[in-house]
Amino acid sequence: MAQKPKRTKSGSAWMHEHVTDPFVKKAQQDGYRSRAAYKLLEIDKRDHLLRPGMTVVDLGAAPGSWCQVAVQKMKRQGRVLAIDLLPMAAIPGVDSLEGDFTEPMALAWLEEKLKSGRVDLVLSDMAPNISGVMLSDQARQYELCELALDFAVNWLKPDGCFLVKVFQGVGFEDFRARMQRAFEQVLIRKPDASRDRSTEVYLLGRRPVASQASAVTSPHEQA
Ligand code: SAM
Repeated sequence: MAQKPKRTKSGSAWMHEHVTDPFVKKAQQDGYRSRAAYKLLEIDKRDHLLRPGMTVVDLGAAPGSWCQVAVQKMKRQGRVLAIDLLPMAAIPGVDSLEGDFTEPMALAWLEEKLKSGRVDLVLSDMAPNISGVMLSDQARQYELCELALDFAVNWLKPDGCFLVKVFQGVGFEDFRARMQRAFEQVLIRKPDASRDRSTEVYLLGRRPVASQASAVTSPHEQA
């Protein structure tokens, strides 16, 4: 939903906004692949999500600025598993898959990588390409959110966290209610780098509710 519009009249407006955006300039200076880095940096500053030694899963990771932040904050100790539909240039310390998270092969890849343990932090900045039909765009966004939440509930450690991008509008309250049933604490975050005109916000779930996390065992644990 936060994808670039086509190069039409509104495309030149996008280009003007892009070249004058302070976070775009800062990202170029700081060596981040996108301005999205500052969203995670701000949330992490406040909520202390990233620590050395963690296992982090980054869903919708390309071009990779959240992975860059994760690797830095973890001081290269720990692991980051990243998935995106789009190719992503390699980042040392990040194991990435070019694939569709909604497809079974992506889940199988993650399960194979994670067979030795659970996850400390699941990040989902996934956003589908917009079709322009608002209701169906919202529905596709929430399908991604629901799948990411299912994954988080199944794989997080008891003290784990799930940070997910959502768009306020149809489906938001239902999804927030589901998050509130799934986690002991749910916080809402709107970092400065998230544009005011965007309905984008992030929900942060802390500590999966024990009954849910233990009710669903991974295929490896069932074996
Ligand atoms: N957090 C990223 C960063 O810091 O570089 C930016 C993520 S971008 C806003 C959203 C990404 O979600 C896009 O790269 C898009 O390809 C990805 N995405 C959307 N649907 C997906 C899916 N079904 N599976 C995997 N990735 C998906």
